[in-house]
Formats: sequence, structure tokens, C-alpha cells
Amino acid sequence: MGLLVQKYGGTSVGSLERIMRVARRVAASRAAGNDVIVVVSAIGGETDRLLELGREAAPGAEPSQREMDVLVSTGEQVSAALLSICLNDMGTPARSMMGHQARIMTEGPHTKARIRSIEGSKLAETIAAGQVAVVAGFQGIDPDGNITTLGRGGSDTTAVAIAAAARATACEIYTDVDGVYTADPNVCPNAKKISRISYEEMLELASLGAKVLQIRSVEVAMKYAVPIHVRSSFKEDEGTWVVGEETSLESVVVAGVTSDKNETKVTVRSVTDAPGMVAGIFEPLAAESISVDMIIQNVSEEGTTDLTFTVKGGDVAAAKKIVEGMLPELGAKAVIVDEDVVKVSIVGLGMRSHAGVAAKMFRVLAEERINIQAITTSEIKVSCLIEAKYAELAVRALHDAFDLGT
Ligand code: ASP
Ligand code: MG
Repeated sequence: MGLLVQKYGGTSVGSLERIMRVARRVAASRAAGNDVIVVVSAIGGETDRLLELGREAAPGAEPSQREMDVLVSTGEQVSAALLSICLNDMGTPARSMMGHQARIMTEGPHTKARIRSIEGSKLAETIAAGQVAVVAGFQGIDPDGNITTLGRGGSDTTAVAIAAAARATACEIYTDVDGVYTADPNVCPNAKKISRISYEEMLELASLGAKVLQIRSVEVAMKYAVPIHVRSSFKEDEGTWVVGEETSLESVVVAGVTSDKNETKVTVRSVTDAPGMVAGIFEPLAAESISVDMIIQNVSEEGTTDLTFTVKGGDVAAAKKIVEGMLPELGAKAVIVDEDVVKVSIVGLGMRSHAGVAAKMFRVLAEERINIQAITTSEIKVSCLIEAKYAELAVRALHDAFDLGT
């Protein structure tokens, strides 16, 4: 018993029938003696539809970001209201709240604001009155009173931040998958559901493209030690707990294997090899908020060197343009863009204390005759950039080699 925050994603509230099912689930948690704060996403596909509509309304230019926030935040308003209506109809008193009513204060730019604080008294009042608070996810309010949104997938962060502010026992994220898997089950049919995973590992997996949780939500959970339970809204089974390292029991070397297609390789040929050249390339990219992931500088021959780096798919055109504009300055010959690559990664806390994990990964890829084009590592991750067509083969081979399957 205690206070639970339950977040239901777009598929879970995908139709009125599903919203009714969610209402029954919330009512059951209430009946079991819990206080419940629910956070909802927009009905699946609605945010995309609204974004498209906004863009169509401004054919000549980028639409106003402020107005786009007003527009897209309505998606969550609809689902919060509908769920609240259902709950009340079933005899479970409930009250919907928009971001500003729940006092979710944000900072930073429109469409990618960050939660600065949540003044919990309105939520506490609702709970104290014996009602379920149904909060519209993904939205907040800035110091000037403007509606803001938290970036795609932001309802996860709303839920975790509320769980932290309200000191909830746990934050349950209800979604259309059973939990976090050792690999994508569509690629590895024998992939296993992970029962407990650490925040650190989950952060790596989320930044490698695993879409179950918004990265920011995992950061907030880690900072405030909020246990997250990712589980299916269509089943009763336990899903995956995302918890602190001290409470994550499975001490495996590798927890999961992922591949990220949203990665593009950019090579700058024959850059003059002198101090300041690398800074000269990456500073203008940073100024445009383009993040660079993998970087390789080759051994220089005759005073010039090739520099290779990767950027996210959406940043390729901008990155190429910037670097092309600098070619004379760098004394470089050409920029070559290769989109036909994928980043395959293994993630696991156990790597900290086990030698030879990277070597084993390289050997496994070699045995499949897969060439490695770039490598990056962190304390708990090894990533290799390979030709895109080998992505699934590589994931399956690594998943088997590290014994992750059932
Ligand atoms: N509805 C928003 C989106 O689609 C927020 C969320 O679902 O978490 O990104
Ligand atoms: Mg989501």
C-alpha cells in the first residue's frame, strides 16, 4: 500500500474502450488500498497528427513554437479528461489536472522544456480528498505562464518527476510491451525480459535508441531514486524494474544488446594535422546543437589526416553543410557521408569488473565476417559501427555469444 504513480502511454489509451480498461485497472489499484496519481499520454498518433496540422497551418515557415506547444498539449488534455470521466462513472472519484493545475513548472525552450519543480500541494489536496489525480503528461508551464511541452516521450518524465515530488512508492510505466528485453524480440526470438536493471544500464539503452522510456525520465529517476516499473497495460505480469545499482540483483556482465540505425558516418578527408583543427571542426557543430557520438582520427601521413565522426540522422544535412563550408580552412579535400551504417552495442554493469568483454565482441563480429568501422566505449558499454545490412546478424550473434537468450 502507498502512493503509486501510474503512467499510461499512447497505445494504452488508444481508444475509448482502452481508456475504460485503464480506468478499471486504476480503480483496482485504488480498491487494493493505494493512493493513485495517473499520468496519461495523448491517444496514440494524436501528437503526430497535431504536429502535422500545425506545420500545415504555416506552409511558408516554421510555425511558432509557443503555439505548437499550445496545440500539441491538447492531446493529453483529451485523454486526461476522458479517463477522469470514466473513473467517476465507475464510482472511483477522480479529477483531471493540466500541467499548470498540477503546478509543473518548467524552464528552457518551447517544445523541449525541462521540469524545474513541481509544487505538490494541489496533487496532495486531491489525494487527501480521496480522489485519483489524473494528470496530463508531457506539459508544464513556464515562469511567464506559457504552456510548454517536454519533448517527445515526455509523459514518462512527467510521471517520474511527480513520483519524486510526491514521494511515491514507485512509478509504474504502462506500455504496449511487457518490459525491457535483452534484445529486440523481433530480431532475437529468444530474447528475455529483464526483471531488474540499473538506472545506468537503462540510460545507456535509452540513449542507444531503446524507446521504452524517455532518457530524461531515467535521469530524473536516478537522481531522486524513484523505482520505475515498466510493464504491459494489457497483462497483469510483472515487467522490468529500473532501480539503483545496490538493488539490482542480477549481476550479469552484459545486460542487453541493441542496434541503432539512426547514426550516420561523416568523414573529412585530408585535414591538415595541426593543433586546433579538431576543435575547429567540432565547435561549429556544437554551436548548432549537433551532437557528435563516435570520433576517430587516423594516424597522419604527410601532415594530413582523415577524421571520421558520427551524427544522428536528422543532423546529417546540417553537419555536412557546416563542414563543407570549412574545407578550405581545414586544408581538407572532401566530406564523405555514409548513411549505410548501424551502431551495435552491448551494455552491462558487469563490464566494469570483467576484462575481455570488448575483445569478445570484436571476435564475435569477426567470426561473422563483419567489418568494424568505428568503436566507442564507456564504462558499461561497447559500441561498434558496422555496415547496416549486418545489423540483425550482429545483434543475434552477440546475444548468443553472451548467453542472453532463454
Ligand atoms: N504525447 C507525447 C508524444 O507522443 C508525449 C508522450 O506520449 O510521452 O511524444
Ligand atoms: Mg513513450
